[in-house]
Amino acid sequence: MVAKKLFGTSGIRGLIGSEVTCELALNVGKSLAYYLGNEGTVVLGYDTRTTNEMLDQAICAGLLESGVDVIKIGMVPTPLVGYATEKLDADAGIMLTASHNPSPYNGIKLWNKNGMAYTSSQEAKIEEIYSNRDYVSVTWDKVGKLHVNEEIKGQYIDDLVDMVEIKEGLKVVIDCASGAGSEISPLVFRKAGCEVTTLNSQPDGFFPGRNPEPNEENLQTLMKTVVAIGADLGIAHDGDADRMITVDEKGNVSPFDSLLALISKEFDGDIVTTVDAGLCMDESVNGKVLRTKVGDVNVAEVIIEENASFGGEPSGTWLHPDFCMCPDGILSGLRMAEIVSRDGKLSDLLAQIPSYPNIREKITCSAEAKIKVMENMEELLTSAFDDVREVNSIDGVRLTFEDDSWVLVRPSGTEDYVRITLESRDAERAESIKETCVKIINDNL
Ligand code: MG
Repeated sequence: MVAKKLFGTSGIRGLIGSEVTCELALNVGKSLAYYLGNEGTVVLGYDTRTTNEMLDQAICAGLLESGVDVIKIGMVPTPLVGYATEKLDADAGIMLTASHNPSPYNGIKLWNKNGMAYTSSQEAKIEEIYSNRDYVSVTWDKVGKLHVNEEIKGQYIDDLVDMVEIKEGLKVVIDCASGAGSEISPLVFRKAGCEVTTLNSQPDGFFPGRNPEPNEENLQTLMKTVVAIGADLGIAHDGDADRMITVDEKGNVSPFDSLLALISKEFDGDIVTTVDAGLCMDESVNGKVLRTKVGDVNVAEVIIEENASFGGEPSGTWLHPDFCMCPDGILSGLRMAEIVSRDGKLSDLLAQIPSYPNIREKITCSAEAKIKVMENMEELLTSAFDDVREVNSIDGVRLTFEDDSWVLVRPSGTEDYVRITLESRDAERAESIKETCVKIINDNL
């Protein structure tokens, strides 16, 4: 398999003009059509970015010219593309979005007919077709047909509302960053019985209210608003609403790991998460905790393979296999609202999730040194400790020790550093594990 250049960790993403252009969209459309055998149907949607309509036209033209029908569903959250691809029995879905990146960026993400994102190997095949220009145009009598579907939004909204039971009158503040959740997310919560106050819920590709990355720095207004109006819960989406993070009734952004552990308790079966998720998962989950590579599509693949009941990354990207295999930030928020309306204050519920000393450290190094240092990392780490219970090398190297402490040494996918993440019930022990790992990395750079 050739190394991917076009596709990154979450589809194609880059700066408009230099990296993402209409020409690229046209040819990705033609490449996808070729991959599908120059027949079939593709669902096409986009977020609120200023550059979406041009990319939408370009990728659509590429698909039609290559014999594939297109169902346009317009400006929608990413999860609606996954849902529509499955419900409309299409052969693939396309979402034009750069998720949490700022306004000058855009991207293309592809979806399977079961609502799951394209896997890395599927993306590599598309990239090969694109790079070799293997794609073909069909004759005038075989070009694709264009359809527009307005109804699927309503069906999605109704199906989401049916997933939860929320006591009437729960006060929720929803901050959509002026992104793709703006129209639908507040509507869904109102239909589910919540009393909704909105922030940044007018679609606007300039993201005037806040940056679309839902972190504490960007959520100051939401945090203050929740407290000021005495709301039970705040919910913030990223730019395309496949993610969400909550703010509790005291105005605090919820710790990612604790929140994932809290929602995971809702399910009886096994839970899939990524190698960077903490010990609180193991202590909260009813079934087994399965850890895979970072990236939501990796979580989705393991959910299907292992028939798991739920999956999520600590970043707030959660997969609900009882609904759809596309991460859904609106359903994630609804489920949190259901828990709060049933069990009480979010701050109390999160306080019951165990929390231990953890350390995140990054060591800067060159791109070459990053590859070299990781080559023997498993051996170096396992020989440095004498109480290793489990080694997981699916993504970086993760050691679990006899006392349940764990450490993950992983190269950054996008920047030049090696990251050490670890957790232990004992702060001194955490510090000593960190020092050993830092020394190993520095000695081998
Ligand atoms: Mg996103």
